[in-house]
Amino acid sequence: MALEPCKVCGSLTSTEEEICMICGYPAKGRPKSRWLKWIALILAVLIGLPLLIGIIQSMSTPTKPQPSDSTTTVLP
Ligand SMILES: [Zn+2]
Repeated sequence: MALEPCKVCGSLTSTEEEICMICGYPAKGRPKSRWLKWIALILAVLIGLPLLIGIIQSMSTPTKPQPSDSTTTVLP
């Protein structure tokens, strides 16, 4: 069991711990949650935005009955 100073807060953290006990910064490797959050955000925007626009457009432009006065032929 070894102790390493945290890169963020400088407190000694056990190397067996995956995150700093003081500030929560991952002591081993890179923080994975950051780019995972970005990917999730980008995916949410790419998928959610067209859906949202489609919903807004369908709500703002209600389907009107087509005017069929000129085409209707009144038969006796
Ligand atoms: Zn820390």
